[in-house]
Amino acid sequence: MNDLETLYRQVIMDHYKNPRNKGLLSSSGYKTIHIKNPTCGDDITIQSLVEDGIVKDVRHDGTGCSICCSSASVMSETLIGKTKEDAEKISEAYINMLTNKEYDENVDLEEAIVYQGVRKFPARVKCASIAWKAFQGTLESE
Ligand code: ZN
Repeated sequence: MNDLETLYRQVIMDHYKNPRNKGLLSSSGYKTIHIKNPTCGDDITIQSLVEDGIVKDVRHDGTGCSICCSSASVMSETLIGKTKEDAEKISEAYINMLTNKEYDENVDLEEAIVYQGVRKFPARVKCASIAWKAFQGTLESE
């Protein structure tokens, strides 16, 4: 494992052990999507709050593997404060990166770039992407 992979692994484990923005809120305006990954047992719920075209909050809760739970935490930190348009672009680029599709490398994935190694492990791609897919779902339900 090279230094960069070691660093990425540390970021993932930090978010797994100390998740940011964890816990669902019942305040009005939050859109909620529940999603499961039966192949791994990941079971996660994502909430987003969009106001005036800005992603004001992203919450997550659930159980799953380190990749799934940490990616929800990283996603929340990456997307809070972004415009809805930028959040959509980042989500799309992130999922395309994971699934080895062409993606716009000018889009700054910020800390979410730590999951780029996951594309080498097809069985884990779903783990790293379901939180983001759920987030996209919350935007579509606006
Ligand atoms: Zn998983």
